[in-house]
Amino acid sequence: MVPQHMELQKKLKVENFAEWFEQTTLHAMIYDYRFPVKGCGVWPGYGFKLRRNVLEVMRSLLDNSGHEECLFPLLIPRGLLEKEAEHVRSFQEEVFWVTMGGSSELGEKLALRPTSETAIMPMLKLWIRDYKDLPIKLYQVVSVFRYETKATHPMIRVREVTTFKEGHSAHATYEDAEKHVGEMVGLYKKFYEELCIPYIVSKRPNWDKFAGAICSIAFDTIMPDGRALQIGTVHHLGQNFSKPFDVKYLKPDGTHEYVWTTSYGISERVIAALIALHGDDRGLVIPPKVAPIQAVVIPIPYKGREGEVYEEAKKVYSELTSTGIRAIIDEDDEETPGSKFFKWELKGVPVRVEIGPRDIDRGVVTLVRRDTLERKSVARSELLTSFTALLDVLSNDMRSAAWKYLDERFYKVKSLDEAGELIKARRGIVEVPWCGRDECGSTLEDNTEARVLGSPLGAAAEKGKCISCDREASNSLRLAKTY
Ligand code: ZN
Repeated sequence: MVPQHMELQKKLKVENFAEWFEQTTLHAMIYDYRFPVKGCGVWPGYGFKLRRNVLEVMRSLLDNSGHEECLFPLLIPRGLLEKEAEHVRSFQEEVFWVTMGGSSELGEKLALRPTSETAIMPMLKLWIRDYKDLPIKLYQVVSVFRYETKATHPMIRVREVTTFKEGHSAHATYEDAEKHVGEMVGLYKKFYEELCIPYIVSKRPNWDKFAGAICSIAFDTIMPDGRALQIGTVHHLGQNFSKPFDVKYLKPDGTHEYVWTTSYGISERVIAALIALHGDDRGLVIPPKVAPIQAVVIPIPYKGREGEVYEEAKKVYSELTSTGIRAIIDEDDEETPGSKFFKWELKGVPVRVEIGPRDIDRGVVTLVRRDTLERKSVARSELLTSFTALLDVLSNDMRSAAWKYLDERFYKVKSLDEAGELIKARRGIVEVPWCGRDECGSTLEDNTEARVLGSPLGAAAEKGKCISCDREASNSLRLAKTY
């Protein structure tokens, strides 16, 4: 159950989401978009910690599934970038080129990587000898650069994507690569669950696959302005990269075969989604798992008993930190408790711990949860158990509230008019019966001025008629306004 007042606090956020997002991330010191290069933002200390905690969740999932973290160069020679024809065709308008070294022109232009398939393949060619070298699973977390010409948005559409986690794998067979794609979809689901981010998984349509992929699976979520945001992708690349890069392995029977590769990525859009979905008009609400600060201890002094209150607050603070809880104490005696509440609510600290003379007399501490602002007194002697339990409740409630939000904005409709109206009003994602032909997909995009997100994975045939051509439907198609 989502408490009623949670909805009421989201008026500003919903009415002017873009402004809310930019101001909130700036004032909470998560992300500063005032750097004088278009599409490039700065992560100040607090935001960097959030980013690091989010990446830690991803790193631990990947490290525990046989991946190794690597680091490949930022610069990719033109010759390599252009080896896979479709790949380069799709990226050519988006690539930043380095053409000069000091005052001399470079012999070969160097691209700032827009993604790293073409940097990784030549190295796989050197590393892979025979079937025993496979599979190879690696990832890196790096900046990638794309010359976005559309309107840029902080964290959401940027020219320097600073938090690109790209995974890459090579396998002996098509089936192994396909199985890995399924496993990575599962891994991403776990990742979003940990961050309390709801998602819809779709197989992207043929005309919107990653350049060079034989199949692209994407995760989308719905932002407060009703637009869908792509927050992750997993691609089966077949032998589309291994052939032009000549990456082969020796099979047990003595013959050679090209390897089968996959790639999968997430970016700071995940953090943007986390902020957008959970925040309210007071500021951020950060899930405990990744919160840079999980608890802020605030002494509420009373005349004559200041010393006692500060001392007790310090004890509570050390008890929390001694068990690994990320806590701080705000002891500034120049600032009123009310102003401190405001400051830490803006920063999205999941739990506020208040200690006043009355708490001391009663042998309790007061815990205030950031998501609902509910207050609760817990026995001082049971502080740690109560605090840990509250963090769990908070995470679960945040996850359910976010899923409820998404479920309410996912519509299954059977007519073009209905689909068109919902999309025009930016109500979320609309799923319609579809005959499976690409041409109906593009007609629907034109008629609704929306983007096709794709089809459900492994879904049974949809009953009904294609809303574009009236033929028998064989599948469903999802449409939405997108970023
Ligand atoms: Zn059709």
